[in-house]
This record gives sequence, structure tokens and C-alpha cells, in this order.
Amino acid sequence: MNQSIPFLDLATPHQELKEELTEVFTKSLDIGGFVGGPMVEQFEREFAAFCDAERCVGVSNGTDALRFAFIAAGIKPGDTVVTVPNTFIATTEAISQAGARPDFVDIDERTYNMDPEKLREYLETQCCLDDGALKNRKTGLRVAAVVPVHLYGQMADMDPILELAERYKLIVIEDACQAHGAQYFSKKENRWRKAGSMGVAAAFSFYPGKNLGACGEGGAVTTNDVEIDRKIRTLRDHGQSKKYYHDVEGYNGRLDAIQAGILSVKLKRLTRWNEARCEAASRYRQLFGIIDRGVVLPEASANTLPVYHLFVVRVHERDKLMKHLAAATIGTAIHYPIPLHLQQAYRHLGLRNGSYPISEKVALEILSLPMFPSLKPDEQKKVYIEIAAFVAAE
Ligand SMILES: *Cc1c(COP(=O)(O)O)cnc(C)c1O
Repeated sequence: MNQSIPFLDLATPHQELKEELTEVFTKSLDIGGFVGGPMVEQFEREFAAFCDAERCVGVSNGTDALRFAFIAAGIKPGDTVVTVPNTFIATTEAISQAGARPDFVDIDERTYNMDPEKLREYLETQCCLDDGALKNRKTGLRVAAVVPVHLYGQMADMDPILELAERYKLIVIEDACQAHGAQYFSKKENRWRKAGSMGVAAAFSFYPGKNLGACGEGGAVTTNDVEIDRKIRTLRDHGQSKKYYHDVEGYNGRLDAIQAGILSVKLKRLTRWNEARCEAASRYRQLFGIIDRGVVLPEASANTLPVYHLFVVRVHERDKLMKHLAAATIGTAIHYPIPLHLQQAYRHLGLRNGSYPISEKVALEILSLPMFPSLKPDEQKKVYIEIAAFVAAE
């Protein structure tokens, strides 16, 4: 039991698929196709089908996927876009890159996702209707969109968020960058819905560490909207509708053919890998069920099927526990240590400590344990034994 346990094992799945992945590379060399082309188109069809969406546009990364989705959905410079403070900065970077101003509502302490009640409160108390447009009272800016983030692989509570969005005419863009394959039971529709199929558009990242990862950078937008699909195809390719005919200024935001081919190979395994993550999560629950006290496990809401991009627990002496586990050669991480409104980069928003108490509180307590499809029961037992020993000694 002296083996070290990584936070994430990116070597094993690629070793297992080495031949198939190498074939993709060889094929690309043979046809001399490297950016866009039939391999990208094929992956786009496959990933749209996987997400129960009608369309998918491959792009260069998840941050561009968000930015292009915002621009194509009609978010304009000067607009305000509401999201949560407990997410990766890419969510708000993309809002700013689209020319908009990020604003926040706090999260639900049980799921770490957007709290629809906090969104309602924000819309009712901090916004007002002015000339038919919803505006933030303080800044006077139009509140145009809401971005629920399906954090850690669990979908946000979409029914009430969509209902509020409809009432206030807000655009909903899902940040599904951690939630490939996650599901949500919509009571309103009485059926399960997939991440990437509920908003006007949704952004995915294929950064290597995500549940579906490229061997490099990659991203995609899913949507059912023909116009949004068309606009993003133009935006990702320098705003051109035809070679050297530029309708607008765009970006260099395309998906590589080699990455698309690799993603097609890996997409075939995604369901099995997600199942393996869920099994690992159940094993953690069984193990920690015994100590319980001192360790808060992630809540598995009955109306979601998470895909455990991360397995995040909460403990009081988080930093000390992290050091203890590091000394036992167990890798952990914090997602995320500083809520976005308190980051240097957002000083100009003027949001003080105390603005989002739940996000601020959990940021001090959350710890992401080792989680990946090939994580073994005896490795998890070692993680549990070390944490149990630490908690008992505290
Ligand atoms: C990874 C991630 C992104 C950004 O994706 P990149 O491909 O790294 O640009 C955006 N939002 C969330 C929640 C993420 O986890």
C-alpha cells in the first residue's frame, strides 16, 4: 500500500488506445488534412447526437466555445451576464471577451451549483424594467443572459433557472465544460435531459483532463438553433462565409482535424468511462459512510445523474488535510480556492468579501480527491484511511 495515488491519471486511457489514436494521426498525415474537414464534421455529428442536441460546432477550446456562444446568441458589448463565483475563470473571461460585464449570484451549499432562489432574488431586487429592457439598478446595464455552470459533472437545477429566464427574457447558455454526458430530470417535461441540450447553446471543453479530452486543446458548442450554429461557424473562421469573403471580423477558433479524430475514438468510450467514475464515487461513499463526521460528501440530488468530473468533499482543516495527503503521496486539488469576485482580475467590479457568503465559505473547505476512470478500489481505500486518520486526530 505504499504506491502513490495521482489526482488524475492521464496516461492509462491513452496507453490503452495508443494504436487507434496513432491511426488517427497517420490518417491525417496521409490525407494532409489538419484543420477542419471531414474528421471535424464527423465528430460534430457524433457529439451532437451524444448530447441530444441537433447541432455541434467544433472550436479551439472551451473558453472560445463560451465566447462564440455568447456572441452568436446576441450578447452585446455593455450587457451584463450573470453566473456563479464558484467556477473556473474561463466562464467570466469569455463574458468579458464578448464585451459584457460578469455579475454573480451565489451557489447552493449542497450542490455547489447556481442557486435558482438567489437568481430570483437578484432579478427581483437588483434589476428593474426600463424601456422594456431588464437593467441592473446599480450599473444601468442591460442584463442579457444567465450562465449556469454544471460544476464537478453535476447539472445545475435547470427547470427553475429556465423558468426565470423565460419570465425575464434572458438568454441561457450552459457552461457544460465539466459535464459531458451528465443528465438532469426535468419535472416540467417529465423526462431526462442531457447537458448541452437545455440552453439556447452550451459550451464544452476537451482539455485533456475533462471527462472527454483531446490530446491537446479542443472545444465545442451544441445548439438546436440554426442561426447560432451558422454564426459560430463563421466566427471560428475569421468571420468568413466563403474563403476570403469576410462578413464580420471573427477569430481563429477552429478545431484541429487530428484532435477531432482523437475525440471520435474517445467518445466511443465516454459512457463506460463515466460509469467507471460513478462506480468510484459509490465506493468513496461506501468508505466514507463509516466515518461520516467531519467529511461532507457531494450531494447526489435525485434529479441529476452526475458524471463526477471531480469528487469534491468538504472538511474544516482543508489545507492541513491537503498537506497530510500530500505527505502520504496522494494527489488532491482545490476547485477553486478563491471565488471569482475576490480575484485580483475582478477588483474593478467592486465586489467585497461577504458578497457571496456560500461561495466564500465553501472555498475554504472544498477538496477534490483523486477521481478518474481507472481509479482502483485499493487506492480509494488508502485515500479513505489517510483521511479517516486525519479526521480522528483533529
Ligand atoms: C475547463 C473549463 C472551461 C474552459 O475550457 P478550456 O478548454 O480550458 O478553455 C470553462 N468552464 C469550466 C467550468 C471549465 O471547467
